[in-house]
Amino acid sequence: MSIHSCDALVLRRYPFRETSVIVSCLTAEFGKIKGLVKGIRGPRSRYRSAMEAITRNRIVFYDTRASQLHLITQCELLDPLSRIQEDLETAQLAAFFVDLTETVVPLEDPQPRIYRLLRDALERLAIGNADRRQLRVRVVLRLLRLAGFEPQVDSCTGCASRIAADGFWSARQGGLLCRRCLHQDADAERLGETQLALLRQLSDDDGPVLAPPDVMNALSGHLDDFLAWRLDRPLRTQRVKMTGLT
Ligand SMILES: [Zn+2]
Repeated sequence: MSIHSCDALVLRRYPFRETSVIVSCLTAEFGKIKGLVKGIRGPRSRYRSAMEAITRNRIVFYDTRASQLHLITQCELLDPLSRIQEDLETAQLAAFFVDLTETVVPLEDPQPRIYRLLRDALERLAIGNADRRQLRVRVVLRLLRLAGFEPQVDSCTGCASRIAADGFWSARQGGLLCRRCLHQDADAERLGETQLALLRQLSDDDGPVLAPPDVMNALSGHLDDFLAWRLDRPLRTQRVKMTGLT
């Protein structure tokens, strides 16, 4: 048995028995972990955090190696990220990021880059100066790539030929189709050159990009269709209206 201490973003929190909770957390060092926090609910809790979802905490947990449910014995709230909850659309977007992370990230597979991506996205939402439309597309693309679920954006999913500018989006096939392979998906939609360039730029680098809102919206819609095909169950938080996002 070993004892660990690390920072943890709470993804999910389920009440357990009278006063305890089971949480799913994302950490840089241990990946996604599940933990039981005994006696945390109620006025007599001795903990320095309530381990609410979408907060960042310092935790101490025991790894028994016998189970994937660990015992969390200490927790301290480091960042409540509370401003996220002050605006409904921001809160919904944060819930979607957390939901997607919970769904595509496997248990106990340390991926510090996924932790940094989610922490950075949530902090930017909490500060309130993020271009949410762009952040949504970027987080979805990056998260899928880091978790090994990414859409194929450089070559045709049918014949593997490289696609320079003339590409068609096929959610069902998992990315792009070239003109010759179009028969594989009657619903494939042509991506304009701008959309294609943007898709690649957003999945490859961190810098801000300039894109007209309609292009970003179209891209966001394509990614949502892709997610609907790729995930086993639809995400409750995915279908949030993006109108009014800036
Ligand atoms: Zn092809």
